[in-house]
Amino acid sequence: MLHSGGDLPAVLINTFHFTTPMSEFSSLQAELDARASDGLLRQRRLLESPQAAHICVGGQDVLSFCSNDYLGLANHPSLIAAMQQAAGESGTGSGASHLITGHHAKHQAMEQALANFVGMPAALSFSTGYMANLGVVTALMRRGDVVFADRLNHASLNDAVVLSRADFERYRHNDMQHLAQLLQASTALRKLVLADAVFSMDGDLAPVPELLALCEQYDAWLMLDDAHGFGVLGQNGQGVLQHFNVQSPRIIYMATLGKAAGVAGAFVAAQQVVIDYLIQFARTYVYTTATPPALAGAVLAALEVIRADHARRAHLGDLITALKRGLASGLKSDKWSLMPSETAIQPLLVGSNEEAVWLSEYLLTQHILVPAIRPPTVPKGTARLRISLSADHSLADVERLIAALHAAEQECA
Ligand code: PMP
Repeated sequence: MLHSGGDLPAVLINTFHFTTPMSEFSSLQAELDARASDGLLRQRRLLESPQAAHICVGGQDVLSFCSNDYLGLANHPSLIAAMQQAAGESGTGSGASHLITGHHAKHQAMEQALANFVGMPAALSFSTGYMANLGVVTALMRRGDVVFADRLNHASLNDAVVLSRADFERYRHNDMQHLAQLLQASTALRKLVLADAVFSMDGDLAPVPELLALCEQYDAWLMLDDAHGFGVLGQNGQGVLQHFNVQSPRIIYMATLGKAAGVAGAFVAAQQVVIDYLIQFARTYVYTTATPPALAGAVLAALEVIRADHARRAHLGDLITALKRGLASGLKSDKWSLMPSETAIQPLLVGSNEEAVWLSEYLLTQHILVPAIRPPTVPKGTARLRISLSADHSLADVERLIAALHAAEQECA
């Protein structure tokens, strides 16, 4: 505990400060040490180039399969130009929260454009996807309500439920029978079904039409987190709702703008009444400074590219097919296999933590960067390489990865 001084004599304060400063935090150091000895200590890599397929990290040029920049927009000239122009017009900072004077005309234009794009009546922007999820769930749900959530949902959704104090019922991943049982047994008046639309560590899709049918049957709201589908799924990149061709007034749609859209932030789209309510009660909206309006300028430019540049999505689709083909016909042992995913997230299931780390390190010796994902991010025994593809990759990049994985397999046989 840090002492502010209070009524302790000066000599004692000095003793505390000079003789025991580390012991104040020794329990934290012990946890860090334990994490390190389990091989789970995470390190930040220093990125020294813009985000792209070929990047410089820690002084090394590598071919990266790590980012969520699925369409290769994070360093796109028209987004850069739009952000520069918007910064010239609106400055660097918003200077206030949305409900004071931070809500700029550019935020408003972005929200309108996003709502139109996903075919919903209204939208509200948030600083990050994490804050959007916290804001929506804590505003809509409270003690006595029930949230039904997929077991593999993103951490931000889980945190949101805990913070809301609603009852937390978790159904087995994509198991609609289990969800139906839980819904049927519930007597709560307010129910929310909560799911990633594309599961971030698995790459598979939630069965959205089935989720919606259950929500209709049991009168629940449906919130979908389309962080990894927006911009990528659907013919024009409108995301998972377009992919499945579903719409419903009971859907609350959340998508992030720092992944395929190449900028930062997030938005929630829903019925006007939901958006009106969030403006009043979503604490992560009300009590935070609005994002720089220049970001909104860049998002508007990203929407144009997403809408018009079909070739990027088509190319990404070709890369996904090439990777699947190259690994399905190639890896001889059964121990590493691609998980069933049709999206840009193509996890290679390895199993043991040590082997996943070994494989990631081996690839790095070949100047290829693919992160090893281990528990607690994924369930025990399912450590994997999370290969994420981007329209910025060439076919030759993907072939290089396939060849390196084959070589790794020989190496460890
Ligand atoms: N939801 C999902 C499914 C995500 O994968 C992420 C980010 N990895 C978020 C929400 C949080 O979004 P943001 O990074 O904008 O906070």
